[in-house]
Amino acid sequence: MGYKRGHWLLFLLFLIGFFPEMVKAEEKIVRVAFDKSLPPFSSMEPDGEFTGFTIDLIRAIASQNDWKLEYVPLEWEEAVGALHAGKVDVLLGMKYTNRYDQVFDFSESFFTMSEVLLVPRDDQGIYTLNQLSEKVVAVQRAHTSMDLLESVRRVKMIVSFSQLEALANLTRGRADAFLGNRWTAEYILRKENRWEDYSMRSGLINPTDYAFAVREGHSELLDKLNEGLNQLYRDGTYTRLYSHYFEPYSPHLTDWWRKLVIGLLLVLAVGIVSLLTFFLWNKRLQAEVKRRTAELADVMVFQRKVLDHTDSAILSLDTQGYITLVNQVAITIFPIQKEMLGRHILDVLPQLPWDACCLDRSRQYEGEIHDERSFVFHYYVAPFLNAMSEHVGWIVTVQDRTEQKRMQTRLISQEKMHALGQLVAGIAHELRNPLTAVKTFIELLPKKVDDPRFRSELLRFVPEELERMNRIVEELLDYSRSKPLLIESTSVADLVYSVVGLFVRRFESEQVNIVVDISDQLELQVDRGRIKQVLINLMLNALEAMAGSTEKQLQIKAGKKRDGVWITISDTGEGMQKEQQSRLFEPFYTTKSQGIGLGLYVSQKIMREHSGQLEVSSVTRVGTTFTLRFGQEDHDAEAVDRR
Ligand code: ADP
Ligand code: MG
Repeated sequence: MGYKRGHWLLFLLFLIGFFPEMVKAEEKIVRVAFDKSLPPFSSMEPDGEFTGFTIDLIRAIASQNDWKLEYVPLEWEEAVGALHAGKVDVLLGMKYTNRYDQVFDFSESFFTMSEVLLVPRDDQGIYTLNQLSEKVVAVQRAHTSMDLLESVRRVKMIVSFSQLEALANLTRGRADAFLGNRWTAEYILRKENRWEDYSMRSGLINPTDYAFAVREGHSELLDKLNEGLNQLYRDGTYTRLYSHYFEPYSPHLTDWWRKLVIGLLLVLAVGIVSLLTFFLWNKRLQAEVKRRTAELADVMVFQRKVLDHTDSAILSLDTQGYITLVNQVAITIFPIQKEMLGRHILDVLPQLPWDACCLDRSRQYEGEIHDERSFVFHYYVAPFLNAMSEHVGWIVTVQDRTEQKRMQTRLISQEKMHALGQLVAGIAHELRNPLTAVKTFIELLPKKVDDPRFRSELLRFVPEELERMNRIVEELLDYSRSKPLLIESTSVADLVYSVVGLFVRRFESEQVNIVVDISDQLELQVDRGRIKQVLINLMLNALEAMAGSTEKQLQIKAGKKRDGVWITISDTGEGMQKEQQSRLFEPFYTTKSQGIGLGLYVSQKIMREHSGQLEVSSVTRVGTTFTLRFGQEDHDAEAVDRR
């Protein structure tokens, strides 16, 4: 029984192995012919694949019916012949015509096709079929378009085997017009980017139905095709395929898409360009910022160096007077141990007349202050404006003038000593006379003590002479003592005579004619001692100027003009050049070999202390007049208007 079982096994294996083959053998083979050059309906790709609308339709129907398709790509005329000869079962896409209907059976129409007449865009002569007379028209052989031209007289046709070739005849300029498949023409021309070069003359040709064709009597196949088509309509396959092949060429849609794409590209390009510009600009900006920062750092270092290396203390204050910045000099000048920043200026410089200085924000103030260590500071307070000219605080500059002041004082006293030296000769004479008189009386005293005349003369003369000596000593003290300004009411004549008295001997010996013309009533509110010093300086200068003159006259006059008293001292000396006159009051300006040049400087200073002025007028080789003018002028806190 073993071998029997072996047979069954073999049979089973046979069944399992060959059953699929047997099923396949039952598949129906359908031979499909089509125009191989009719895109987008049917065409052969360069790689040998077949694509197109009708190809996809038959593929979908074949998969419904389990058909195996056998593709037969042919030229149109051959394809018609092949169907006619029974070499194929179906012809994809045939236009329904009566002539064909006698030979073939048609499925239901699945496309409405119209022929198109295409002419170059600039053509102005062809608008109707009749206008094709005498023209060359490109057509496809055995195509319905040829039938349309039958009625046109004297038309010349270039006949090709496919729509593609017919179209090529138009695009290469061999024909004046193309008559053929509208969809294929558009598909090809768009692909070659020449669709815009041609115009469609539409509305001329009636649309015709487009369907599958089978041999006559092949009704079973025809039914399957119709069923298949209906199924494709129902399940949406038809719509999908239709839009895939034909809607991309729908003019408004492509335009819209093209515009959208161009727009998007433009936006993208603009975006990229602006991004790039922004990037480059940013880079440049960064470099610029770096450069400027370095520059600024240099400037800051420079400014700090300048600030620290001046000989003045510089402080910046906020609007309330609190210190915001100080330089190195400020730190060394002021004996403040703690941090200066943030403190009020009055903590550092209590003597500064701060309240007066910050009253007016458009003014600058300067003046001198003496601190408790008898240091002398010159201050300068200026409003600090920012770039927008807004007041943001104050700048205070302080200079230590202590040493300068001491030097000045020393020199002024030297000048005094010098003048004193000159005075001494005259004073010696002055003292010698009363001394001689007193000495004589004292020598005669033992002998003549009982003589009543002698006694009365002694009692009259000795006190007189002593008083005279006392006066001379007083004058000297007035001159040399340095004491606070002591204003008192003084007779001008008295004042002048007291000074003239000091020079009497000298006037005599130098043969100077002295003229004094002053009213006894003229009074003046001054510090006698200091004004005397001025008069002495001026008289000494006058005597020195007249040293070389043949006629020497010193004239002193005084008077009153409105409120002010004036005194003039005129000499007949050498006089001065204009240039010399402009420098007279500079300290240490002198033209004399033994001169110091402080006489006039000090005199002017004294006059200012009295709110007065010292003026000069001079003519060379004629003489010089100095005028002392006393008036009312307030110069207590000196404000410098720099607006
Ligand atoms: P000094 O007498 O020490 O030279 P002053 O200040 O008194 O200094 O005078 C300055 C200069 O002014 C003198 O050197 C002189 O050139 C000129 N000067 C002053 N007074 C007269 C004058 N009366 N006539 C001509 N020159 C004068
Ligand atoms: Mg002098």
